[in-house]
Amino acid sequence: MPTFLTDVTDMWFSGLTHDLRRYVTFSVAVWLTLWVVLRVVLRPRKIRDTSPPARQLVSEFLFSTRSIAVFSTVSVGINLLDRVGAYPLQRLAVSWGGPWFWVSLVAMILAHDAYIYWTHRWMHHPWLFRRTHRRHHRSHNPSPFTAYSFDLAEALVNVAFVFAWPMIFPTPWQVIGVFMLHQIFRNTMLHCGYELMPARSDGRPWLDFLTTTTHHDLHHAQAGYNYGAWFTWWDRWMGTEHPDYLARYAEAARRPLLSPFRTAKEAPAGG
Ligand SMILES: [Zn+2]
Ligand SMILES: [Zn+2]
Repeated sequence: MPTFLTDVTDMWFSGLTHDLRRYVTFSVAVWLTLWVVLRVVLRPRKIRDTSPPARQLVSEFLFSTRSIAVFSTVSVGINLLDRVGAYPLQRLAVSWGGPWFWVSLVAMILAHDAYIYWTHRWMHHPWLFRRTHRRHHRSHNPSPFTAYSFDLAEALVNVAFVFAWPMIFPTPWQVIGVFMLHQIFRNTMLHCGYELMPARSDGRPWLDFLTTTTHHDLHHAQAGYNYGAWFTWWDRWMGTEHPDYLARYAEAARRPLLSPFRTAKEAPAGG
């Protein structure tokens, strides 16, 4: 029994360290690059005129750490269930070789996008919102640290997908590692406060099927629209895309970048 407890504790700490390292690497790298090093150059692409106070960033970091603790607890459960053979499709997926790696990665991202759209929409029901999603929206003006700033229930809803998906779809464990990298990168960028997706000549985003920072920023500014995570299509199919989304995107994305040699004082306010 002590061996089992030691084993479970080691698994939990190893999961926590791994996930925390990934979150800190992405949030700090994006914050340092966009909010510090390129602050002057990117000023025209800043979506809001104001930046959140430092205390908001600290609380987002602490609540994200708590969400990561929830993720590691569930990942211990996944590990234990795998040992008793609860994930037979995982071994089947590995036996299908390299091409299946990519098929299952794309399938997982598409399925996760649908899962997030619908669970996110439900969490905006007033009764559920108070219990599951209020913490995330405390970040009215998001930052690179907002990614996992969730209520406990929302952290559980998020990790439930990673727990259940490999049970119903053949997915190698390595795919889940790449999936997690994709989601933390996109998640951090959606909250980064700067519009970096290049615009086409008609003002629409180059990759219009992907959600942009403006897309998700509008959700934080005015809930009721833009529930999608990685792709724009669910909001378009369901009529929940913000009516001003493309105009707001074009307004931010078409402003020319500033020279790095220009001082912040010289740069015009809001672009
Ligand atoms: Zn929301
Ligand atoms: Zn958000």
